[in-house]
Amino acid sequence: MLNESKRAVVFTGAGISTESGIPDFRSPGGIWTKMAPIEFQDFIASEEMRRESWRRKFAMEETFAQAEPNLGHQAVAELVRRGTVSAIITQNIDNLHQDSGVPDARVIELHGNGSYATCLDCGCRYELDVIKQSFVGRDELPVCRDCGGMVKTATISFGQSMPLGPMQRAEEETLACDLFIVIGSSLVVHPAASFPLIAKRNGARLVILNREETPLDDYADLVLHEEIGETLSVAVAG
Ligand code: NAD
Ligand code: ZN
Repeated sequence: MLNESKRAVVFTGAGISTESGIPDFRSPGGIWTKMAPIEFQDFIASEEMRRESWRRKFAMEETFAQAEPNLGHQAVAELVRRGTVSAIITQNIDNLHQDSGVPDARVIELHGNGSYATCLDCGCRYELDVIKQSFVGRDELPVCRDCGGMVKTATISFGQSMPLGPMQRAEEETLACDLFIVIGSSLVVHPAASFPLIAKRNGARLVILNREETPLDDYADLVLHEEIGETLSVAVAG
């Protein structure tokens, strides 16, 4: 299918990064088997929730900071280099596609990026290490120095509206491709999980590579319940 494709899109979820040591959400031992996510409304409404959210962020930060792209990311990067894959639509916030050498312009982040923070009101960017200095030990919540707005990691929480630009680009890429490859997503988080079906309905072939079953397996032309790094390395070498 890769050889026959003129324009492929890769759609990734947390599963592509587990081999880099970042836990996914829904696998056994995944983050949500341990704690419930903090919804956007609660972050806005409660100082205690904002503190809890930053506490979790900094507790996880070392894992994210040390993670490096794995065989799966490298295989996808190779497909982008070859021109087979025109875009990577990702639900991940870990920056590992960019770290694997894929140009920023080819990575569409549906759920934002966790490697920095922004002001919710004016969009101004803040670096995590600066926030960490005043938060850890002192519990000071970050506030925008320009407008006084709340500062939050640049990720999209449940209840927060999806980013318009990336959503639009994801739709355009989905409608322009003839092959749509899902890698490491349980395909239960919407609207992100609607893209594979949009591609399929538009005539593209659909491939799902995920260890566990997904609700869209029945619609796919090929389903691989396999490990990502090894499987993609073989597919790209062949
Ligand atoms: P998910 O946790 O719901 O699903 C991950 C899927 O990947 C699971 O079905 C699991 O079986 C599969 N998987 C895990 N490791 C695998 C491997 N090595 N080989 C094959 N399959 C493997 O993740 P999701 O669908 O991305 O949805 C979770 C949400 O959480 C997303 O919105 C994302 O923004 C966020 N998230 C991101 C990260 C990250 O950036 N790395 C990590 C956790 C969660
Ligand atoms: Zn601001």
